[in-house]
Amino acid sequence: MEALALERKAEQNRELRERLMQLKKERNAIILAHYYQRDEIQEVADFRGDSFLLAQKAASTDADVIVFCGVHFMGESAKILAPHKTVLVPDERAGCPMADMVNPIGLRELKAKHPNAKVVTYINSSADVKAETDICCTSANAVKVVNSVDADEVIWCPDKNLGHYVSQHTDKKMIIWEGYCNTHDMLTIKDVEEMRAKYPNAQFVVHPECRPEVVEMADFVGSTTGILKYCRESSHDEFIVGTEDGTGYQLRLDSPDKKFHFASKFLVCPNMKVNNLKKVVKALETMKPEIYVPQDVADKARLSLERMLLVK
Ligand code: SF4
Repeated sequence: MEALALERKAEQNRELRERLMQLKKERNAIILAHYYQRDEIQEVADFRGDSFLLAQKAASTDADVIVFCGVHFMGESAKILAPHKTVLVPDERAGCPMADMVNPIGLRELKAKHPNAKVVTYINSSADVKAETDICCTSANAVKVVNSVDADEVIWCPDKNLGHYVSQHTDKKMIIWEGYCNTHDMLTIKDVEEMRAKYPNAQFVVHPECRPEVVEMADFVGSTTGILKYCRESSHDEFIVGTEDGTGYQLRLDSPDKKFHFASKFLVCPNMKVNNLKKVVKALETMKPEIYVPQDVADKARLSLERMLLVK
C-alpha cells in the first residue's frame, strides 16, 4: 500500500515537473530555492543558495519572473534588488518568526535611546526594518560588517544568538535585540551530547543562530554556505549538522560518500516547508502571490544592502 502511494506521488511529481518546464518557458521565469526548501523544490531549482546569494541572482538574471522558494523576507530582498522583475513566492504564509520579532516602530524607539549607535541588521528581517537600518549583514559576514561601522556602539537585530556570537569577535558595544530563530534555538547541549555519544568520530558543525552554549561545542561554526563549504572540503567523512535539515540535500549532493546526521529531529523550519512543488507550479500558472515593496521602503532598504557589499 505504501509502495503504491509512493509510486503515485512520484508520478504526480513527474507531471508537475513537466508542467513547470513548460510554464518557465512561457513566462521567462527562473526558480530560486533556499537550501532549507523541500528536496522536491531544490531538485527543480535553477539556483540553490542562501538568501542573499539568491537575491543577487534575482538581480543579475535575464528572466522576467522570479519564483522565490523561501520565506517572505527573502522574496522582499529579491524584489528590492530587482525592482522591475515580478517576484512570486509559492505560499504567502511562508513567513519567518524571527524576522517578525522586530518592527520599525520598536527599532526607531531603540535608536532614539542610543543616538550614537549604528544599526546593523541581519538579512533575516523585513524590508521595513531594513529601511531603518544603517547596514545589513549575513551570518557569513556579520563580524566583518559590525567591525566596519563607524561607531563604538551597535544596535544589533533581530537574532540575539548571532548577536552574541558577533559580540565575542568585536570591541564594539553591542545592544542586542531579543529575537531568535525558533528552529535553530531549539537545539540543546543534551541533543549534541547524545549525538556525539552515538557518532563519536563525527565533527559537529553549527550555525551561529543556535544558542551560545551549543555553538561553543562546535568543531566548526559558520553560515549555511560556510557549513556546506567546510563539509565539502574537509578531510573528515562524518558530521553532526546543527542547522536546518533541508541543507541535507546539498550536503549529500556535494559529498555523496560522506555521512551527515542532523543534530535534532526538530531542526526543521515549518515556515520553509510550507512551500511544495505543487505550489511552485500554481504560482507560475496564476502569477500569484506576488511580492510588493513600496518604493520609498525599497529605496532605503536597498541602501542598507548596498553598504554591506562595500565591506571588504
Ligand atoms: S530557519 Fe529560522 S530564520 Fe530561517 S526562516 Fe525558519 S524561522 Fe526564520
